[in-house]
Amino acid sequence: MNADAERNARASTITGSSSRLGVMSDGIRVRFAPSPTGMFHVGGARPALFNWALARQRRGRFVLRIEDTDAERNRPEWVEGIVSALAAIGIISSDPAFEGPYFQSHSAGAQREASLWLFAERRAYYCDCTREDLARRGGPQQRGYDGYCRDRGLPYEPGRALRFRTPDTGSTVVDDVIRGRTEFPNDAIEDFIIARGDGTPVFVLANAVDDIRERITHVVRGEEHLSNTPKQQLLWEALGAAPPGVGAPAGDREPAAAKAVQAPGQGGAGGLPRRGLPARGAYQLSDAAGVGAP
Ligand SMILES: [Zn+2]
Repeated sequence: MNADAERNARASTITGSSSRLGVMSDGIRVRFAPSPTGMFHVGGARPALFNWALARQRRGRFVLRIEDTDAERNRPEWVEGIVSALAAIGIISSDPAFEGPYFQSHSAGAQREASLWLFAERRAYYCDCTREDLARRGGPQQRGYDGYCRDRGLPYEPGRALRFRTPDTGSTVVDDVIRGRTEFPNDAIEDFIIARGDGTPVFVLANAVDDIRERITHVVRGEEHLSNTPKQQLLWEALGAAPPGVGAPAGDREPAAAKAVQAPGQGGAGGLPRRGLPARGAYQLSDAAGVGAP
């Protein structure tokens, strides 16, 4: 068995291989992922509408994902509030292009599996450094993590964070609808934390796993997530999935983005590349933890 086949076999053992998602094989899939906390406000309307327009133009799907990881603050009436607020701006949950809502909390098991899988594959390692340790070793100039625990081979113990082993060489290229190709040297990306000391995944991992599980093909992100994008992309790749197309509508750039989306492949890097689904996943998509009807 060659290495790829072996990885795939192991991954499907971990995750199962069936899917109930009913994915349209040639349609794009975008997501709108509000937090259920507080009211849906006007700041959420723009990305929601942009994603909706994208899904409709390309005969794709608009996936509503509720990022409800903070169970204490999550209330069903807020989810209803989001659905009805979306309806008020024309995004109707009964439309065939609409899918969801899915709940991030329902995929906690898959997120956990993904973190353990990355550890087993040596793509991640445990770290017991405290903030004080970092400050002592690096002094006040220390930025990010110094990689101290990379090769210590620590097993999991409560309190140890799991860090992603960022590649030492090469670069991560983000294909952005707006900016074109942006290259991030990997050695400038720290070994970032993907799971906390209690084993719960942090946002960047939860997001990557959910995007893969929901077969998201294009991510329309806010400007505030720019620095997260190369990390998410590294995680997609480590989990064996083809990273999604990326775009960031912002202010007056939005029409340009829409134009690029309407005319894929035209204008070089400005066009949205047509992406396949992440089929060759080492860490295969799984519905084991219940992505399905709410
Ligand atoms: Zn450490």
